Amino acid sequence: MKIAVFPGSFDPITVGHVNLVERAMPLFDKIVVAVGINSSKKYLFSLEQRIEWLKLVFRGQEKVEVDHFQHLTAHYCQKIGARYLLRGLRNASDFDYEKTISQVNHIVGEGIETVFLISQPEYSHISSTIVREVIIGGADATPFLPDEIRIEPFKP
Ligand code: ADP
Repeated sequence: MKIAVFPGSFDPITVGHVNLVERAMPLFDKIVVAVGINSSKKYLFSLEQRIEWLKLVFRGQEKVEVDHFQHLTAHYCQKIGARYLLRGLRNASDFDYEKTISQVNHIVGEGIETVFLISQPEYSHISSTIVREVIIGGADATPFLPDEIRIEPFKP
């Protein structure tokens, strides 16, 4: 059984994330969308909220599971028997960052392979960071969010 973990902060999930999972669906038997908890990172939305949104968006997708984990991604993969990591590449800075992590995960995770999908042009400008800024700035983030999700702009 080919299991992939799609790790991320999903703070919040965007249409870019959803597109990546949809395109990866034919490649794997199961994709576990897993929220990584990094204690030194500040999040805008609570873990519970981010998980709730993920479950809502992927409800009805038989191959997709939603989970969360602490500590090393490679150890989480080993724990659940996943041999693959799924990540998206939007640009060269994604590549530089992901390259190192993937090489380390291959060693720590004893052969875990990271599968990269290049983002489609219509999604390559979308990041959770930008979406958070839009929301905090009091603008409507709907164009970047999956249909199932509504987030009210913050009041200035
Ligand atoms: P992290 O904090 O680990 O970067 P994110 O939730 O920001 O978590 O992103 C998780 C994964 O989704 C990363 O591999 C990222 O490259 C990918 N991703 C995010 N936005 C897009 C997008 N618009 N198109 C393709 N991949 C994306």
